[in-house]
Amino acid sequence: MKTSRRQFIIFSATGLAAATAGQTFANGPMLAENDPQGSSLGYKADSTKVDKAKFPKHAATQLCSNCTLYKGGANAGGCQIFPGKQVAAKGWCSAWAAKA
Ligand code: SF4
Repeated sequence: MKTSRRQFIIFSATGLAAATAGQTFANGPMLAENDPQGSSLGYKADSTKVDKAKFPKHAATQLCSNCTLYKGGANAGGCQIFPGKQVAAKGWCSAWAAKA
């Protein structure tokens, strides 16, 4: 009996995680540049507007669209860092990591 209950809890948690992951990349509102989490990572919807003094390692070629955390299309899409929100394909934040 204990095993069944334990399995139920594990399966429920797994299902919830899967459902949450599904929602992560669903269409949502665009991430605002003044969003507290976004601004803490220096997010800009236009990568050319990144503060070079604050983020000297930023390169013009770094875009959300070529970041490994981006799951979207040509204009916008989801980002694993900002669940439930969309980021601009031409955007950037300091968590950028090259797609493999
Ligand atoms: S983690 Fe990548 S996809 Fe997400 S906002 Fe930053 S650069 Fe864009």
